[in-house]
Parts: sequence; structure tokens; C-alpha cells
Amino acid sequence: MPSPESSSRERAPILVVGGGITGLTCAIEAAEAGNPVVLIEKSAYLGGHVAAFHRYFPKLCPPPCGLEINTRRLHNNPKIEILTLAELESLSGSPGNYQAVVRTAPRFVKESCTLCGACTAVCPTQVPDLFNCGIGKKKAIHRPYPMAFPLQFRIDRSACPQGCRLCADACKFGAIDLDQRPAKKTLRVASVVLATGWEPYDAGKIDNLGFGRFPHVVTNVMLERMAAPDGPTGGRILRPSDGKPPRSVAFVQCAGSRDRNHLPYCSGVCCTASLKQATYIREQYPEATITVFYIDLRTPGHLEDFAAKTVAANQLELIKGKAGKVEQDTETGNLLVTAEDVLKGRKSTREYDLVVLAVGMVPQSSGLPINLLIDEFGFVSSGPPGVYASGCVKRPAEVAASIRDATGAALKAMRNRTNGAGHE
Ligand SMILES: Cc1cc2nc3c(=O)[nH]c(=O)nc-3n(C[C@H](O)[C@H](O)[C@H](O)COP(=O)(O)OP(=O)(O)OC[C@H]3O[C@@H](n4cnc5c(N)ncnc54)[C@H](O)[C@@H]3O)c2cc1C
Repeated sequence: MPSPESSSRERAPILVVGGGITGLTCAIEAAEAGNPVVLIEKSAYLGGHVAAFHRYFPKLCPPPCGLEINTRRLHNNPKIEILTLAELESLSGSPGNYQAVVRTAPRFVKESCTLCGACTAVCPTQVPDLFNCGIGKKKAIHRPYPMAFPLQFRIDRSACPQGCRLCADACKFGAIDLDQRPAKKTLRVASVVLATGWEPYDAGKIDNLGFGRFPHVVTNVMLERMAAPDGPTGGRILRPSDGKPPRSVAFVQCAGSRDRNHLPYCSGVCCTASLKQATYIREQYPEATITVFYIDLRTPGHLEDFAAKTVAANQLELIKGKAGKVEQDTETGNLLVTAEDVLKGRKSTREYDLVVLAVGMVPQSSGLPINLLIDEFGFVSSGPPGVYASGCVKRPAEVAASIRDATGAALKAMRNRTNGAGHE
């Protein structure tokens, strides 16, 4: 017979913080094994960065397919409670019996929203489209992106003109509630999985590479949106300021990475990501010159085959040498990339229409109300008993590795439900 204490432990769910591919996988695996899960995500939609990618390496398939399978599994599983626009405010207690206070921001749109779009048609205000990395704008009432899950609009109230109720008046279903307020909820949870992932390094901090000063210098994360059919240019990769098709593109690897002034570590995925992105360019521009400037081309394990095939099939020019400087030709707007070709022992300056900076991953480990052991780079090494970090908040990783890690974290978190205080 289980003791009253152990049976009450069994009822407490697992809390998963972060709804990217790691958090989604962890929540689904734990729930499909019979455990209740509460999944909290600070943005208005699930999927994290993967939702914004045009294609996945190594298979080059579109991420929405995989995400849709996962969101269907989530949707069909009554054991998973999903809270979006939600963050963890505090955590106290011990494994098997933690109290988590979760704060949710208002969406201002209720579940009765039918996605008819009458509200967006009348909305007078535009806000930067953050899903598209700020390229282009969208209405203050919007869906984060067309396939976003949950399929619901939200309002950026900070942008609404004083007293404006046009969207609420246009909604025939009464689905807009402009008086919604932030809410707090206290949950008893058995264990916590932190899957808060990463953000791209701020390319504006890398003075010598021209981001923010020269419009045709973009980041790898921006290029994903520029190539995506639901992106700001309908999937056509064009120069940002003049809309011209690029005839030459340079990928600058380790932009700010392996650099003690910025990120001293290697993010492990950027080389493979740039090779993948070179296929986007080649597909649209068969005649374009594509150069990759690199220190070492790091494509670990099985990704080496992908790299070798991609380089050969796409006529990529590889130059071993870190790009030291990007300048702009004031007449043409073209970019001048200066780098030393280490293998040839000479420095050169070459002209490109578009430069893509391969910026690294910054772990999202700060500001969490948990006593975590954080390494020198900001990644989570470990947490208190019953709290497990998983995916890119723990170390840089590609999707397959994040998924494996998430499954492991789900197993560890489940032990706290069945055995009380589990150990690492
Ligand atoms: C340019 C680029 C291209 C890439 N392309 C590929 C590829 O083609 N194939 C591949 O395998 N890998 C690729 N990767 C790696 C891939 O992005 C990661 O493996 C993946 O994003 C890891 O998922 P995650 O869930 O750990 O993190 P994330 O995707 O960052 O998700 C974390 C989630 O947690 C949420 N969150 C953050 N903080 C909080 C908080 N305090 N409270 C609640 N929620 C929070 C975030 O909003 C987000 O939804 C690429 C990486 C880069 C940089």
C-alpha cells in the first residue's frame, strides 16, 4: 500500500518551463508515459526557434511538419496543461512537493476566437514583426505566425491607441476582452524541467562586422525568415534595403563566437546551419557566388556527411580564415569582406552583395527564480534536486540532440513522481 504521502506525491504533475522543441518533447514523452504535465511558455506560441526555421538540417525538411505532429500529440493528450505568455515567478519546497508560482500575461483574446481576422482588418496600429526578426511589421492584434499553436490571436496592448476598441467592436463572437489582467497561479509540482533554450548573440555588439550599420549584413537567424515561404518576402532572399537578388553571398562563421570579447565558446551548430542556408541561396540563385569564411568547419558526428555532400553539390567556396572586417562601398551598397586565407597565407578584400553573420547561441538561464549552478558561459550545469535542465539552456545542440536530452530529462522528472525525492 502506498503511504498517504507517496500517493499525494504521485498526483503532483511535472512542470516544464519553455515550450521549444526540448520542452515540447519532454512534456509529450512524460505525458504519454502517463504523467500529468504543466508546460509553461513565455511567448504566445509553442515551438521556440525551430518554428521560425525554413528547413532543418540534415534532412532539409520543413520544421512545420515535425512541429505539427508534436502539437497534435500535445493537443490530444488530456494530461498536458499548456500555459502560454507564462513565466515561473518562484519555486519553493522539495522534490515531489514543489510549489511553483506561475505568472501569466493577458492575451486579450479568448479561446472562442475563430481566427476570422475581422479584428486585424480594423486595427489601426502596426508593431515590429518579432517572429520575422523585426523585418516588416504586423498589426497590434495578430497571430504570431500563420501556423502558431495555440491558434489564437493576441494583442500587443502597449501599441494600442488610448481608448481604441475597434477590434473588440468588430469581433462578432465576443472573443476580445480588453480588460484582461495578469494572473498568478500556484501549482504543486513533483519536479521541474528547465528548457528555456537560447537567443542569438546580439550582432550589433560585433563592431567590425557592420551589422546594424550596413543593411545588407544580416544574421543567420534573419536568413531563416528571409527564406521561409511565410516570411517577410514570401520566401525570396533579397537584399534588405534595395530588394535586389544577391549575386554573391558571404557566410561569416564564428561571428562573435570563439572570441573572448564576445562568446568564448563554439555553438556547435552554426557551421552546419550556414551550409544548410547555402542550399537556400543556391536553390534560388544557381549562378551566385557563395563563400564561407571559417576558422574550422565544425560539423560533428553524422553531420560530416551532410557537410561534405552540401559543399560538393552547391559549389561552395570555402576560405579558411576569420573575416576581420566588413565595410560598405558607399556607391553600390555592396559589402567588402576582409579576411586572411590561412591556407594560402594571404589577406584579401572581396566584394559581396549580401553578408550573413553566423552568430552563436546565448543560453536563457538568467532571471529564473531557482538556485542553479551556471557555468562560465551561462549554461546550466545543474539545479537543486528534482530540477533538471535540458536542451540548449544546458549546452548548444542541434534538434536531434535536444530531443534525446529532453527524453532523458522526462525520465528523471518522472522518478520524482513515483519515488518521491529522486537523485541525479
Ligand atoms: C541559425 C540556426 C539554425 C539552426 N538550424 C538547425 C537545423 O536546421 N537543424 C537542427 O537540428 N538544429 C538547428 N539549429 C539548432 C536549434 O535551433 C536548437 O537545437 C533548438 O532550438 C533547441 O531547442 P530548445 O527547445 O532547447 O530551445 P529554443 O528553441 O530556444 O526554445 C526555448 C523556448 O523556451 C521559451 N522560454 C525562454 N525563457 C523562458 C522562460 N523564462 N519561461 C518560459 N519560457 C521560456 C522560449 O520562448 C522558447 O519557446 C539551428 C540553430 C541556429 C542558431
